[in-house]
Amino acid sequence: LKKVTTLPKAQYGGRHAVTMLPGGGIGPELMSYVKEVFKYGGVPVDFEIIQIDPTSESNEDLEYAITSIRRNGVGIKGNIETRSLDTGVISRNVAIRNQLDLFVNVVHCKSYPGVTGQHKNVDIVIVRQNTEGEYAMLEHESTPGVVESMKVITTQNSERVARYAFEYARKNNRKKVTTVHKANIMKLSDGLFLETSRNVAKDYPEIQHNDMIIDNCCMQLVSNPHQFEVMIMPNLYGAIVSNVICGLIGGAGLLSGRNFGDYYAVFEPGTRNTGTAIAGKNIANPIAMLNASIDMLYYLGLKSHADVITLAINKTLNEDLVHTPDLKGTASSLDVVQTIIKHVQNLSVNCKKK
Ligand code: ADP
Ligand code: MG
Repeated sequence: LKKVTTLPKAQYGGRHAVTMLPGGGIGPELMSYVKEVFKYGGVPVDFEIIQIDPTSESNEDLEYAITSIRRNGVGIKGNIETRSLDTGVISRNVAIRNQLDLFVNVVHCKSYPGVTGQHKNVDIVIVRQNTEGEYAMLEHESTPGVVESMKVITTQNSERVARYAFEYARKNNRKKVTTVHKANIMKLSDGLFLETSRNVAKDYPEIQHNDMIIDNCCMQLVSNPHQFEVMIMPNLYGAIVSNVICGLIGGAGLLSGRNFGDYYAVFEPGTRNTGTAIAGKNIANPIAMLNASIDMLYYLGLKSHADVITLAINKTLNEDLVHTPDLKGTASSLDVVQTIIKHVQNLSVNCKKK
């Protein structure tokens, strides 16, 4: 198998096949908006939709979903809730990432000028280790009342993540990478993560590298997020920090997250929420999942389609100011989607005229 950049994606009759895992909560409605926008944008993508029953004791759906992503090479997903605290029932989300070896998660946290957040003009790329660390799922009760949980950090995965971040910085003309850690306390595990990123940094002399302890990092993010360009961190810190930054610039409904391995890619909303409480109320913000679908289109090389939908979203959020309640607006999910579709149609007509 070659690396993902060269691996051909499933394509039948000129159309791309992508696995769609709607997940629970607001997942299915957000996916219906993606399909609707794609229809009006004439996007040549067919979805293979797989529902994973969260209450199921068997992992049959999960295995089927993973096989489908292996076949298509690309997936888009909502969050699959794991309600059980039974150690025999593992998180399906984690299982998908681990089995496909999606070792890196990338969340580009960029402010929308039309959306008021705690800070303006934030533009930070979070590069998170996605398959180990505190998510190793190696927990046991050694004696009643005493639980041990293993955090796993490896040189190999730390290096892949650091290299991804520095390559990203180089390609996207970013000048600074910050490694986030708690190596003052977790000297061996976070120490290895930090040391590895310092070693990788040596191969990128034109990029400034610094490091920051996770607690100080949270304080710095809230008070001065503009000091950050690209950030590298282990799994759990990445989960927390990406939610902090999303919160700073407009909440859980806006940004997307990309999961990459050497062979597969899976796209999803950046904060990975299920949104059970707001499901079926026509108030969920469709933007995060639409952004995930745009990331997917760029990944598939469908740049002109991705550009049109990006422009339509920018017009909707920054010019029309059609915002759902999470952005302190009064628009419904469908109002937002219809406004986006209107722009997609106009932009597509203008493209054809040219
Ligand atoms: P989790 O799945 O981690 O339990 P929740 O589903 O409770 O998280 O989501 C966290 C918060 O983010 C909730 O207040 C939820 O309403 C909000 N949220 C998540 N996604 C969206 C969205 N697309 N639009 C609006 N609010 C959202
Ligand atoms: Mg929830």
